[in-house]
This record gives sequence, C-alpha cells and structure tokens, in this order.
Amino acid sequence: MADPVRSPTTTPEAVLATAQRMLADGLVEGTSGNISGRLDGGRVCLSPSSVPYDTMTLDDLVIVDLDGTVVDGERAPTTEKDLHLAALRRYPELGAVIHTHAVYATMFALAHEAIPAVIEEVVVYVGGDVPCCDYRGTGSVELGEEVASHLADRGAALLANHGLVTCGPSPETALHNAALVERTAKIVWGARAMGATIHPLPERVNRDMAGVYRYVRDNP
Ligand SMILES: [Zn+2]
Repeated sequence: MADPVRSPTTTPEAVLATAQRMLADGLVEGTSGNISGRLDGGRVCLSPSSVPYDTMTLDDLVIVDLDGTVVDGERAPTTEKDLHLAALRRYPELGAVIHTHAVYATMFALAHEAIPAVIEEVVVYVGGDVPCCDYRGTGSVELGEEVASHLADRGAALLANHGLVTCGPSPETALHNAALVERTAKIVWGARAMGATIHPLPERVNRDMAGVYRYVRDNP
C-alpha cells in the first residue's frame, strides 16, 4: 500500500497575505470571493463573511475543523465554506482553495464552457482544460460536492453561472492558478474575438504535461 499523503499546511498569515494579493491583482472586488488554507491539526483557516479585503486582519480570519465547526475566531466564516472544505476533505494533497468571480473566467462559466488548455503552462499548473461544473446553488453543500468531484486531476474548475475555484498545495499556488486561468480565459476570448481558429496542443504534449501536473500534485 502506498504511503498516505502528508497534507501540506500553511499559516493564517499566509492566508491573509494571499487574500490581499487577490484584491491587489484584480481577481476579487469588495467582499466577493474567499480563500482557505489547511493548518496543522486538521484545522482550516477561512476568510470571513462580509469583510472587505483591504481592512481584513488576522483577527477576522476564522478557524474551523474539516466538518466546518468553528474552533477559533469571532466572525462567521465565508458562506462558501463547503466549497473549500469539500475539496480539502477529499484531497489530502491539497492545502488551499481560492474562489473568485474573475471576469473572463466567469464569462466561460456563464456559457457553461470549459476554458481550453491551449497554452502549455495551463496543462502543467492546472492539469488540462478547466471544466465547468453543473449548476448548484451558491453556498450549498451540493455545490461543494459538485466542484470537488471535478478537482481530482485539476487545479481549477468553473462554477456554472457563478465563477472560478482554484486549488493547490499552498495559498500562493492557488492564487497563481487563479491568475493563470483568468489570463488564459482572457486570451482565448480575445483570440475568438479576432475570429481566429484556436488550435489545440499536440496530444503528446498534453499527456506529458498532465503527467507533470500529476507528479507535482502527488508530491506536495
Ligand atoms: Zn462566489
């Protein structure tokens, strides 16, 4: 039997710094979007509900167990906590999840269309096309399960009529993936606006690079 994966962990400081980078990088606005990071001891650090990123402090973050019970913090956790916890429960190799309403990615989510992995780095960092999950109500347990079911071999997925979720071993990686997916969505959208035919990567390149994604993900 293979050794169980030793889950990567982070700190509330890294979760807060990444939350504020999400704002600075234009991936979120106001209080939209949210972030989680796995802490040691089976705990998870979640961003709070309804606190603007630019005034958010460490005291605003909420610590929960993997079932969502608050173990520390004064505020209510993000209303999308199930989106985060479903992925972190199911995939021990993941250490962080980010949810945003990034504009170009959300355009694909409205169309219920995968963002095609037509740029090499997307396959390496995300594993392939960014799939679009079936619609489930925002904040629901069902949305969390639906999204988690699409993250087995991907570092990102679209929420139908809603936005984007990315994941990785650390908050920094999840943020990197969010920026990469948003940039890719913008490029694909622009290429189509040019009237261009978008050519897929060669199958062998896709396969090899997806293998790199799998290796990195399995060795957090
Ligand atoms: Zn949302």
